[in-house]
Amino acid sequence: MTDTITNPIEYPEITQQLSENVILTTVDDIYNWAKMSSLYPLMFGTACCFMEFMAAYASRFDMERYGMIPRATPRQADLLITAGTITMKYAPNLVRLYEQMAEPKYVIAMGACTITGGMFSVDSPSAVRGVDKLIPVDVYIPGCPPRPEAVVDAIIKLRKKIANESIQEREKTQQTHRYYSIPHNMKVVPPMFDGEYLRSEERETPSKEIVEAMGLPLPLALPATANSQL
Ligand code: SF4
Repeated sequence: MTDTITNPIEYPEITQQLSENVILTTVDDIYNWAKMSSLYPLMFGTACCFMEFMAAYASRFDMERYGMIPRATPRQADLLITAGTITMKYAPNLVRLYEQMAEPKYVIAMGACTITGGMFSVDSPSAVRGVDKLIPVDVYIPGCPPRPEAVVDAIIKLRKKIANESIQEREKTQQTHRYYSIPHNMKVVPPMFDGEYLRSEERETPSKEIVEAMGLPLPLALPATANSQL
């Protein structure tokens, strides 16, 4: 019987033993292993939560040890960590970024603001009450802000989720409905502050009385009789 050594120092050699030369696995396992070991998150942050997200990448927590390399373009990213408040004005951009990301893609909602609107959920006219109204979310990280340990924990949970996926069941596990956390009746309204007021003739050309009161010469654009009624 041949002696076997676990983790030999020398380079491995081809032996006659089958178990030392062949790895048996499933397509699902090797596909999931590759996916979970090379998550590329999009560099994305809209508010204070992103400070903690950055700290998770710094030397103390070192998220790159999970094979995670932040990408500056959604075309090369497959993980979106929504770090920060999402406003209704920004919502279309978030959805566009998500749609531009490569499949299969995952989303982590980081912080109270992105989960429910957080401190803005009561009276803000602009904060989105939960990014799951816009894009499907895989893992939620509560907190305001969540610490880097919580981000690392969410990554581990996401890796476990990816490890359990099956290519055959992909159709069944994909999201088919969006479940709203808080029903609301908000309506899109046209912009109120369109700058028209600042461009009005009265503001661009001061009235004759104001010019005289300030002791300034009358502007050429201002006729002597203009704005005399103001
Ligand atoms: Fe900032 Fe807290 Fe909102 Fe995060 S959850 S973006 S820390 S207010």
